[in-house]
Amino acid sequence: MLRYSKKNSRFGAFIFSFVIVAAVSAFFLPAVNSTATMLSSNTPQSDSIYEGGVPTANAGDLEKLKQEEARLASMLASIRQQKLSVLRSRPLTIGIIGFGRFGQFIAQSFTKYGNVVGTSRSDYTDIANEIGAKYVPLSNLEGFVMDHELDVIVVAVSIVSFEDTIKDLVPHLKKKMQLKGKDACPLIVDVLSVKEHARDIMLKHLPEECDILSSHPMFGPDSARNGWQGHTFVYERTRIDKMLLDPSEMNRVDSDANFLDTKGVTHNLHENSESHIEGMDRVERFLSIWEEEGCKMIPMSCKEHDEFTANSQFITHLMGRILGAQGLQATPVDTKGFQNVLRLIETTHSDSFDLFFGLYKYNRNSMDTIVKLKESMDQIIAKLLQKEGKSDTTLPGAKQSCL
Ligand code: NAP
Repeated sequence: MLRYSKKNSRFGAFIFSFVIVAAVSAFFLPAVNSTATMLSSNTPQSDSIYEGGVPTANAGDLEKLKQEEARLASMLASIRQQKLSVLRSRPLTIGIIGFGRFGQFIAQSFTKYGNVVGTSRSDYTDIANEIGAKYVPLSNLEGFVMDHELDVIVVAVSIVSFEDTIKDLVPHLKKKMQLKGKDACPLIVDVLSVKEHARDIMLKHLPEECDILSSHPMFGPDSARNGWQGHTFVYERTRIDKMLLDPSEMNRVDSDANFLDTKGVTHNLHENSESHIEGMDRVERFLSIWEEEGCKMIPMSCKEHDEFTANSQFITHLMGRILGAQGLQATPVDTKGFQNVLRLIETTHSDSFDLFFGLYKYNRNSMDTIVKLKESMDQIIAKLLQKEGKSDTTLPGAKQSCL
């Protein structure tokens, strides 16, 4: 059963907005229906509010309509509240595509909160059984999507295979929506370590009915082997109920809180249709798992994320790989600093080279990081040679730059 953080005030706000929407829409919709019913039943009589096809005022009828309206409004509000609480009391079913190192790592925690179904190219049936998850081979992607009531699909494949994976997924999502309705698309979440690329791919290929959450847990099986407490979770609620919610879009919000989506359709920030509230609710339920596990939750645009991580995560992996290429080994006289260097080499090499390549290739800021690192190295060496009194500050054998 999904638990909710006591600190989390998101849900209270949702219940409130849900009741408001239900009450407002219930106020108008039943009024139309009950008016139609009363009109049609009254049409043939001469004391009806219709006379000769022209509506005329009748105080008694109006009063009855108002009472009926109020009764139905309160019934609908109550039904919608019950519907939302049934949805919430049901544990989430979370599908994970890419059941490798990171997919398994998150599956272990997800099983505490809901049902987990994994799929991948390799056969991870035994590992899934140990974790308490169900496993379906990727060759049966259709079965993975169609045979399970997935609320969420987390895509945890390598960065380099992400676009093909999303493209393969799309026909199955469309089929599901054709058979079960437009709201049958699960929330699609990516956990890629590069965010603009993942966002662009999802917006390019996924049907607009599919809600999207872009996320990056800034930790993994090594750094968070003892739990997720205190580790950073970055996320952007990218699209909910067809609305792009990128914080950078907020610049385009006018004083009435209206903004244009990419298709030029005007939306309101406080838009609260039933599907919007249910979509937001599902996102918040999924986010609450990370929050409940103790993560530091950081909402951030994908663009900003990539600017930060090129100079933090990518440079860390780059240094680990460069130092690893030196063939450094532990010695009997290691300093603490050198032990840290060896640890950096070990942790960066325990991630796949695909992951490192993805950080380089799909973060548009990473080449800048490499260039600056190279320049800094040249500057430091030149400083050493100058101090030594050498006029030529170019290292022997390094006359030509590789960049
Ligand atoms: P990875 O090497 O980046 O990805 C391995 C996963 O990708 C496996 O599930 C693998 O499936 C799948 N895969 C690889 N090529 C594929 C292809 N052509 N088609 C379909 N699936 C393919 O290593 P990872 O550490 O598990 O990372 C997975 C994702 O999580 C990445 O996007 C990474 O950026 C993100 N992430 C990782 C960490 C971390 O600490 N490791 C932290 C945060 C986010 P098979 O095993 O079945 O071949």
